[in-house]
Amino acid sequence: MEDCIFCKIIKNEIPSEKFFEDDVAAVILDIHPVSKGHSLVLLKSHYRDLVSTPDKELAEVILRVKKIAAGIMKATGAAGFNLQVNNGEAAGQVVPHLHFHIIPRFERDGLTVHWPHSDSEPKTRAQIASEIKKFL
Ligand code: 5GP
Ligand code: ZN
Repeated sequence: MEDCIFCKIIKNEIPSEKFFEDDVAAVILDIHPVSKGHSLVLLKSHYRDLVSTPDKELAEVILRVKKIAAGIMKATGAAGFNLQVNNGEAAGQVVPHLHFHIIPRFERDGLTVHWPHSDSEPKTRAQIASEIKKFL
């Protein structure tokens, strides 16, 4: 897609620290890393987000995510990693081209994924579950 920054990176029109590439995916270091080795696995084809990506390509790209995450863990000595996909502006997606954040985590790194959880009633949960079921 013409105006997409990740498409431009994939085509090498914009420089990046690209350290893996095959027919399905390209992997770059995030320009504003959350932690050492924070990487972005970019699907080579342009799709806005996870839901709009065809099953076959999604299945292919997740295999790359697995391989790359394992390599990043070894290279950085990370003790774990967060895998994040932001879908839609409301969820913080800035670049509308499917990508997976791999964020290496280290003991006592000061980062957190502790979102504010709330209480819920069993009846409310049952209602929501039944609403979702209608669309599956
Ligand atoms: P999201 O769309 O999931 O919120 O995140 C987009 C990510 O892409 C951000 O973490 C941002 O730092 C990264 N990013 C944006 N522009 C560039 C760029 O030109 N080069 C690289 N390497 N990363 C970028
Ligand atoms: Zn794109």
